[in-house]
Amino acid sequence: MENVLSSLFKSIKALGEKRFTVEYPEERESLPDSYRGMLRLDIDTCISCSACERICPNKTITMVEIITEKGTKIMPQIGIERCLFCAMCSEVCPPKCLTLTKNYDFETTDKRTLIKRPEELE
Ligand code: SF4
Ligand code: SF4
Repeated sequence: MENVLSSLFKSIKALGEKRFTVEYPEERESLPDSYRGMLRLDIDTCISCSACERICPNKTITMVEIITEKGTKIMPQIGIERCLFCAMCSEVCPPKCLTLTKNYDFETTDKRTLIKRPEELE
């Protein structure tokens, strides 16, 4: 009985207290310049060298075929659920067409959507 009263008292007291959570997504946290989020690929400048696939320490990148205006090319597909956001792929990319953005907003209830084809990384 004492525990119930104690919990009830705490609940009533909490009603008058300031909330500690922030609204989402209306209120976003400011991110540091060095923040590493979702990868971005510029399909037009990718030279299909596969350097990103070879360097990825977590085998997150798979080269897949895509059809472009210039014909069929291979480009990186990224399983973002395995990504370490280490930026090694971006560092070795010769034309610097693979970069990390500040986008962290890719939560999902369907893990299949975390495999991003090249077209989805644009
Ligand atoms: S950031 Fe790191 S883990 Fe993620 S795809 Fe690039 S090399 Fe792989
Ligand atoms: S994203 Fe960069 S490193 Fe990867 S295949 Fe394209 S050009 Fe090469």
